[in-house]
Amino acid sequence: MEEENCVFCKIVKGELPCHKLAEEEVAIAFLDINPCSPGHALVIPKKHYERLEDMPREEVEKLIGLAHEVAKAIVKAVNADGFNLGINNGRAAGQEIMHVHFNIIPRFQGDGGRPIQSLVKVEVKESLEEVAKKIREAWSKPNL
Ligand code: ZN
Repeated sequence: MEEENCVFCKIVKGELPCHKLAEEEVAIAFLDINPCSPGHALVIPKKHYERLEDMPREEVEKLIGLAHEVAKAIVKAVNADGFNLGINNGRAAGQEIMHVHFNIIPRFQGDGGRPIQSLVKVEVKESLEEVAKKIREAWSKPNL
């Protein structure tokens, strides 16, 4: 944990300013300081977690619950036609601040942006059946 030097932990503690949109028991939402589009916001857990898989499910549910509420307000406020909800999880995925954060990026018809699926295209060499089997076997809570 690099909590002491974490920019988002400092925002949570009020040691750094932010344009706060909402605050709940386990999560806060605020505007991204370098927005990709008007209304671009971040929703983060108050507790320092580096990656999504480090978080307990209950906290993830509360985090996504707040993202859902905030996204609805953003769409209305900036008159967006849609939004991307995304998380850069791990350095390989482009994570720069090592504190879990959902991005809500408002989208507008004809804005020139692309969908999340355009981020990467890595060849899948195994059959989907084999990949699915591996994932089910790796899952700590198999239910299939
Ligand atoms: Zn942090």
